[in-house]
Amino acid sequence: MKPDLTLQKRLLKSLGFSFLEEPLELSAPPPPQAATPAPRRRQQAPPPPPKPAEEKLPPFSSLPDLAPGERTAALGEIAREVAGCQRCILSRARRNPLPGSGPLDPTFALILEIPDPAQDESASYTAGQAGGLLGKIVEAIGSRLDECFVTFATKCHSLPFRPPHAPEVEACRPYLVRQMELLRPKTIVCFGPAGLGALLPSAVAGGPNASRGKVLEYRGVPLLMTLPLPAIVAHRSRKKTVWEDLQRLMAALQDQRSLE
Ligand code: SF4
Repeated sequence: MKPDLTLQKRLLKSLGFSFLEEPLELSAPPPPQAATPAPRRRQQAPPPPPKPAEEKLPPFSSLPDLAPGERTAALGEIAREVAGCQRCILSRARRNPLPGSGPLDPTFALILEIPDPAQDESASYTAGQAGGLLGKIVEAIGSRLDECFVTFATKCHSLPFRPPHAPEVEACRPYLVRQMELLRPKTIVCFGPAGLGALLPSAVAGGPNASRGKVLEYRGVPLLMTLPLPAIVAHRSRKKTVWEDLQRLMAALQDQRSLE
């Protein structure tokens, strides 16, 4: 049926297309043209992504020996600095920064990602569901929370609560690195990629979960990254994944002991 051009123009005008002053022409589509093959270009491989800078830091065992009192005092100095720190945007939302706490020479240093609302409010990493879950996980690997040093990749809470962003982790990284040097943990467990990214940036270059469950090494001690606590709290079925990750770590520690 032939289109009624006058009626179409009227309808379009009623819809606001008043710029249509010329009569509509329904022209036949142009005949298809034979496709001319595009000239072949030599495909160049994309340049590899820049590798994150990896500091060559010496193993803990080669650092100068400090007396326990000096190490405790230096850790206290870090805590005081964190309390007044404004290096990143998280300083605006926090109520209580959590620098970390625990004994010197801990069997495990546990690096969480960022204080959650309960931890931020109470100034305690044992608060809330995440704190309770952490205690159970530590018991499952034969330790107790008071035998571990617990800290965060970013010491301050975010509002709204979310995983820390890379610039925040980078801003807070010097505190974490210095804490590890003073503590000399025997093993490090990161709950989430933020702590791993702060200590071993190349381990997260392939994606935040590329190294999950792998036993790596940081300055001469074993390091493992597993899931972040909020992710386990939200989906309890993920406890199995964490358990399997920790089993690999425990097996590696067992192998290490049998060689000593
Ligand atoms: S998260 Fe770390 S770097 Fe940012 S304000 Fe808090 S202590 Fe400072």
